[in-house]
Amino acid sequence: MTEQPYSIPRFVAMMLLAFAGLAACVHFLNESSIQSITRAQALSSAEHLSRRIATEVADLENILAGQNPSKQSQQQLRAVAMTEDMVKFNLYNKQGDSVVRLDDSGQDPNPNTPLKHHNPDVLEALTDGQAKSVIKEATNDGTSGSDVLVEAYVPVVQAGRTLGIISVYVDQTQLDSRLRSQLSRQNLLIVAFSLLGFAVPAIGVFLRTRQKQIADKKIAYLAQFDVLTNLLNRKTFESNLSECLLESGKANKRVALHFLDLDFFKAINDNFGHAFGDELLKQFSARLKENLRPGDIAARFGGDEFVIAQTGLDSIEDLADATRKLYGNMILPLQIMGKNLIPSVSMGTAMYPENGIDTSILLHCADIALYVVKGQGRNGHRFFEPSYNQARLRRTDLEFLVRKNVVSRNFELAYQPYYSLKTGRLEGFEALLRMRDTHGNFVSPAEFVPVAEDLGLISEIGAWVLNTACSFAKDWPSDVKLSVNLSSVQFKKKTACPSVLQALKDSGLDPSRLVLEITESVLLADVDDVRQQIQVLNSYGAELAMDDFGTGYSSLSYILRLQFDRLKIDRSFITQMSSGDESARKIVETIISLGHTMKMLVTAEGVETEEQAFMLQAMGCDQVQGFLFSKPVEPAQVSNVIMKAFVNTELSGHHALEHAVEEAAVSRDVRDASQVTA
Ligand code: C2E
Ligand code: CA
Ligand code: CA
Repeated sequence: MTEQPYSIPRFVAMMLLAFAGLAACVHFLNESSIQSITRAQALSSAEHLSRRIATEVADLENILAGQNPSKQSQQQLRAVAMTEDMVKFNLYNKQGDSVVRLDDSGQDPNPNTPLKHHNPDVLEALTDGQAKSVIKEATNDGTSGSDVLVEAYVPVVQAGRTLGIISVYVDQTQLDSRLRSQLSRQNLLIVAFSLLGFAVPAIGVFLRTRQKQIADKKIAYLAQFDVLTNLLNRKTFESNLSECLLESGKANKRVALHFLDLDFFKAINDNFGHAFGDELLKQFSARLKENLRPGDIAARFGGDEFVIAQTGLDSIEDLADATRKLYGNMILPLQIMGKNLIPSVSMGTAMYPENGIDTSILLHCADIALYVVKGQGRNGHRFFEPSYNQARLRRTDLEFLVRKNVVSRNFELAYQPYYSLKTGRLEGFEALLRMRDTHGNFVSPAEFVPVAEDLGLISEIGAWVLNTACSFAKDWPSDVKLSVNLSSVQFKKKTACPSVLQALKDSGLDPSRLVLEITESVLLADVDDVRQQIQVLNSYGAELAMDDFGTGYSSLSYILRLQFDRLKIDRSFITQMSSGDESARKIVETIISLGHTMKMLVTAEGVETEEQAFMLQAMGCDQVQGFLFSKPVEPAQVSNVIMKAFVNTELSGHHALEHAVEEAAVSRDVRDASQVTA
């Protein structure tokens, strides 16, 4: 883990400690110098006294021998006792017995205590004949508060002979306080100088070190985490994951590795702004973190890509449970800047050890599973399957094909007719895009159109479709319409209107003959924006059809607010309806009546059986399109279809449905006959 930078409190504490140390040193030095000065001073006072006694007291030797001092000596001794600074003195003979005691008022202060009792060391030293001065401190004698008293012992020497010892209590209070005030001024200076000389550079060094440490910490953080979301970054995740896998292997546990992608994130960013996008990423990451259990790790790989490893799973069932729970939580609504948003999330999952035991393989598998989800319309989840590798390769091939064909304009169109269920007349053709692979086989547009959308090439292709189909349809009978599919991406990129306008202009096709088919996915973009584009297309005179109605996820009110002229019921309902699915039948019925209420022409697509056609006819559906009537045909056959329809309905008065039923019967007979002969 990274080292903590020096904090300011820590630095202040260190500085205070240093100053406390300095203050203690200064105090110690002060005390010892004050002591030695007051002692020296007391000693010299005592020596002075001793000299006075030795020279002034005439019968000193007798007094020390135990005789009472003469009157004159008594006066002289009292005078000595009353000198300034003197508190009391005690004269001892060489045996240490106290002979004279006097305080500064000239009285005998205390009982006779022989020196040998209260200070044998002093006696020994002095009676050794060494005439040595010894001092003994006696601060605070208990009566004088904060008085500083110093006790000094000095020999009394007369003519080179030590006669006795004198102990003197000297009052050093004044000297002491004078010294203290002088020293405290010096101390202030010392502190000031050390502040300048030590603290200032120390603060400088501290600040520089701190700055560097903060920068180092940030660099270390950046190297490991994603700044916006505080999740791990790719590098750290990968190294943590390999540790996870190693441990899971030892503990015989499974790991679920999930790749998550926020769908349409770019559109969200574009529509609501980057601040909104950032907030979405942050909240999504916070949600991801809430779902981490001990041992799990999560990262943002950049953009709107997230990865999470769920660890410590015992069985495949546990893994499936954990995965389901995670995905369920990740698509719960979010509140972003006052807006409710249900995140559309694509998630791919790889399993350890089933899909691989190595970090890069597992990541690859999860990525492929995610890719498959995206290819299947996003907003879902998939576990990796080995066949997906094939799908990935296929996708790469398709990308190559689409790119190549866009450059060489190597697309084709097929045309599928649709008929009125009421009159049986041919009403129009839907242009359907075709692309061949390198072997010349057709690739389904359901497969390659999403690829072209992702590659950002659909606008270019769409413009080509419009131009080609409009120019072609211009020569059809004037009551035969042309339907062209538009991709929602053409609306997002705002290329739909200019492409339509250009095609109408270049071809000269009557705009009222053009029907533009749009799927509900168009509504995933900004609705107001789409509405405005639809109005523009209407203003050109073209009709608009809602394609694949019923399969999308947009609310009905949304769709109804956009003025569509036509509605195409999705093939899936038609298929289910005839397989006896009562609810599918009801849905179709409802859609038809809803369409009529909204004054829309309703077309059923994917009609394959007579039964379906008759049911739709009974329900009042306006138009039909499907294999029962005709498969999409190549351009060269369009005139045949038109001709046949003309002959059947205009000349023979046949209904397209009757004709289709007859044709179906013929082909059934042919099939049966060939089975008989076979
Ligand atoms: P769509 O717009 O729903 O087109 C109808 C699809 O259903 C066509 O498939 C058509 O061949 C097929 N179909 C028609 N009748 C029947 C039937 O009775 N049974 C069955 N099983 N299928 C039937 P296709 O041509 O493969 O097109 C698939 C999708 O690709 C289209 O669905 C449309 O969404 C898209 N597409 C096709 N051409 C274009 C285009 O020029 N631009 C754009 N953006 N998308 C296109
Ligand atoms: Ca269509
Ligand atoms: Ca359709």
